[in-house]
Amino acid sequence: METPKRKALIELKNYLTHLKDLGYTEIPCETELLANVAQETAQPSLSTNKMSKNISLGAVQKELGDCTRCKLSEGRKNIVFGSGNANADLVFVGEGPGADEDEQGLPFVGRSGKKLTEIIEKGMGLNREKDTYICNIVKCRPPGNRDPEPDEVSACNPFLIEQLQAIKPKVIVALGKSASSTLLGRTVPIVKERGTWHEYAGIKLMLTFHPSYLIRFYTLENRKAVHEDMKKVLKELGR
Ligand code: SF4
Repeated sequence: METPKRKALIELKNYLTHLKDLGYTEIPCETELLANVAQETAQPSLSTNKMSKNISLGAVQKELGDCTRCKLSEGRKNIVFGSGNANADLVFVGEGPGADEDEQGLPFVGRSGKKLTEIIEKGMGLNREKDTYICNIVKCRPPGNRDPEPDEVSACNPFLIEQLQAIKPKVIVALGKSASSTLLGRTVPIVKERGTWHEYAGIKLMLTFHPSYLIRFYTLENRKAVHEDMKKVLKELGR
């Protein structure tokens, strides 16, 4: 049984791992911590808003403009803002654009995108454009498809928050470790935590594998796992 002491130790371990992932080599003083870590994590600022702000996706995109708020702007061809139904009940959040997405300015249009479309349309029986909205935690392609760095995630995060505020979905699905960790504000061991429900600013949040992980590790077990996760999402949506 998980005692309160053990739970606290696990939370402390997760928090310290998250600090390490953010690039800290020692525990920062409280002021620095509050200033820096709060910016890195979406959950604290959102939890006070509870998606109450009235804002349109168009206004968010206008505010983003020809963004140069982080170094990812230097190598991009196109900003990949997001696509789908602005009033969707279901939003998928991925990590960042790849080469195809950068080329076309649209999210999930490459190989991973085809896999995601297959999951949505064949697996869930939904229409990708009509029933979902898809975006990423960073809107410009990280060079060589590397993971987005903490300062890049931090610079782009306010726009992800506003996108979600504009759409107000019933369910968010975080695709993979980066999206899950950004939305929950801690390092998420995705293999362990996929398939579990969480909350993001009052909205149900499901964690699952990124389609590219599924392509790389195309096992029956992984496919079944994503299928089960999406069944839970459909149930929550009443579909
Ligand atoms: S990743 Fe986000 S914050 Fe960075 S330049 Fe692109 S749009 Fe701006």
